[in-house]
Amino acid sequence: MKTLGLIGGMSWESTVTYYRIINQTIGAKLGGLHSARLILYSVEFSEIEAMQARGEWAESGEILADAAAKLEAAGADYLLVCTNTMHKVAPQICRRIRIPLLHIAEMTAEALQEAGVDSVGLLGTRYTMTQNFYKEKLEQRGISVLIPEDPEIDEVNRIIFQELCMGKILPQSRAFFVRIIEDLAKKGARGVILGCTEIGLLIRREHTSVALFDTTKIHAERAALLAIREDLTEGDSE
Ligand code: GLU
Repeated sequence: MKTLGLIGGMSWESTVTYYRIINQTIGAKLGGLHSARLILYSVEFSEIEAMQARGEWAESGEILADAAAKLEAAGADYLLVCTNTMHKVAPQICRRIRIPLLHIAEMTAEALQEAGVDSVGLLGTRYTMTQNFYKEKLEQRGISVLIPEDPEIDEVNRIIFQELCMGKILPQSRAFFVRIIEDLAKKGARGVILGCTEIGLLIRREHTSVALFDTTKIHAERAALLAIREDLTEGDSE
């Protein structure tokens, strides 16, 4: 079994989900007491978030690149950065390591292609929804991307940072997300990417009939299967 290196803490609320899904996936495949070989480097999120807000991407990229180098030195075979947003600095991280970075948007694009979805809604932080680093990974694979309107982008972003990243799960925010998801579907999206690793704490498949692509689940499951060299089988991505 390969060792997964995780850069987590962005926020720790979703890193808990990664830890659980990776172990559950390996346990389900191998049975018995099998569990993941995994090393976690958890960052101080307040520091990273402040750098995002100030546009200091190179500085925050340095912190993550240092963490990645430490995970590699500690024996990680693969690197996971447990947030969509910070994939903005994936190229900077990759320059510091020799092990592969399992890119969350590339794995999500793979899942969309397997499901035959070529037009998708994207929900995430303002950075993920409005900048190019994430959307281009989908568009390069022929998937067109829809995002909400401006005031809704603000509200999605606010809910992520002021509620979900602090473990607050509120019914009115769930209702707001469901409305946005259904609006994107009405505009032609054949599925919606939960493109922030905390959204799955709020929205699950029973809340809407629109097909959801939860990036935390996709990233964690696929990484776990790669660590034990297993392919996805029917039902793994439910
Ligand atoms: N976890 C979130 C994401 O997947 C947001 C936190 C961050 O800004 O890194 O984008």
